[in-house]
Amino acid sequence: MMMTRLTPLAATVLVLLTAATDPVPIDWAMVARIREEGLQHSQVMDLESYMTDVLGARLTLSRDMQRAQEWAKAEMGRIGLVNVTAEPYMDFGVTWDNEYVSLHMLEPDYSPMVGYPIAHTPGTDGKQIADAVIVDLQTRPDLETWRGKLRGKAVLATPPATIDLAPLTNGVPRRTEAELKALEETVIAPARPTPARAPRNPDLLSAEEKMAFYKAEGVTAVLQSESGWLGAVRGYSRPGSRNDRWSAAGDSASPVIIAITPEHYNRMYRILRRGIPVKVELEVRNRIGDKVEQAMNIVGEIPGSDLKDQVVMIGAHFDTWHASPNASDNTSGVAVALEAARILKAVGAKPRRTIRVALWSGEEEGLWGSRAYVRQHFGNPADSTVGRKPGYDRFYAYFNQDYGPGQYRGIYLQGNEAARTLLAAWMEPFRDMGMTVVSNQSVGSTDHVSFDEAGLPAFQFLQDRVPGTGGHTNLDFYDTIQAEDLMKNAVIMASYAYHAAMSDARMPRKSGFERK
Ligand SMILES: [Zn+2]
Repeated sequence: MMMTRLTPLAATVLVLLTAATDPVPIDWAMVARIREEGLQHSQVMDLESYMTDVLGARLTLSRDMQRAQEWAKAEMGRIGLVNVTAEPYMDFGVTWDNEYVSLHMLEPDYSPMVGYPIAHTPGTDGKQIADAVIVDLQTRPDLETWRGKLRGKAVLATPPATIDLAPLTNGVPRRTEAELKALEETVIAPARPTPARAPRNPDLLSAEEKMAFYKAEGVTAVLQSESGWLGAVRGYSRPGSRNDRWSAAGDSASPVIIAITPEHYNRMYRILRRGIPVKVELEVRNRIGDKVEQAMNIVGEIPGSDLKDQVVMIGAHFDTWHASPNASDNTSGVAVALEAARILKAVGAKPRRTIRVALWSGEEEGLWGSRAYVRQHFGNPADSTVGRKPGYDRFYAYFNQDYGPGQYRGIYLQGNEAARTLLAAWMEPFRDMGMTVVSNQSVGSTDHVSFDEAGLPAFQFLQDRVPGTGGHTNLDFYDTIQAEDLMKNAVIMASYAYHAAMSDARMPRKSGFERK
């Protein structure tokens, strides 16, 4: 056969065409193996069940969390990950665990009530019976109104909760085609300057000041309800706990604070409004540590081969709030990340780059674990106090899940338009699963932000809304998790991690953070 000799011009055109259309390679055989393992031999719901049923809630730096982290290390070992480590990252505070809560209305009618203590508050001194009283405490003059009147009372400290009935009447529709299209195509308008805020009324009391007053007045407990969801208690950490770094002194200087489901709270509120007395019985036992301890992230690896010094990361936050196992937020993300790693080991993947799985802690309190990890391992060239660590240039990409348990419908570019080609190409094998959107939006509020703010490519998947009881509540259990969604997510995360670990193309970084 004879070669046709190209003219120089034709050769140039051909090279240009090739460069412009050169497809990102997809390892279809590996995709098939990943799909088979993840969809026909899935263990993701078994993981989800163990973590939510057996381990339960995992407040950062609780005994619960320490026990769960031991399990996570063992589980990573069982999957076959190496270099499994618990990495301490900061003196976080003292441990706090709720061990018992009992809550009842005694008068005018007996009713058990559902409530949970706010994290990092003390327990009661045994069983307490108290008259309930509505207190509207907003300003400094209000302090004088209430001074000397609250000893031994159970204070209803928030206005009656407004319950949102929309999810009951409307259901929770998955993302529509129109919505997905909008996420793809929306032009991002430049942010408008925010108008200067009016100065804060100096008479307004902060949450810390209110709690200090209640403590000084000797209340039996502060009761509150802020969820707005049927049956749900939302309770976080006591006001000021972040400022005093979850200290034992801060914990014991707080009154007992109990968040109550809105129906039970509102019932007491309405009875009191009629001028009829309400008597409650309550008991809370919390275990508070006596020394400051370090919080930890758990990491494990599938070692790379010729590019093993470079790292692709997948992960999710392992910590939760304390009133439920938080099946959706973020046990579902952890189950997906661990299952993705298990799938890759099960199919015998031999990645070129090292694939590292990270289970963060301190996320709910403000991304403490992942931020510390990025600072220690990669650095930040834009921050002179940290600088660029050797690991910075050897980092490839991070993929995170933390927007509930809904299935992946796409991925957010996070302001990195240059990453579109690779992220879109790796999506191609999963179109039949409804994974179709590369959104130009940037999203926040979880651990990919810690990487992104240091200029490291880090991405959050675009997920379906699915019905459930939501994160950060007492109702976030295994039962509302939809298996098919997590199975698909684990397959997709495994494939993204694999293709990122094999890619000949470098992952472009956001403008301003390109390699020097
Ligand atoms: Zn979360």
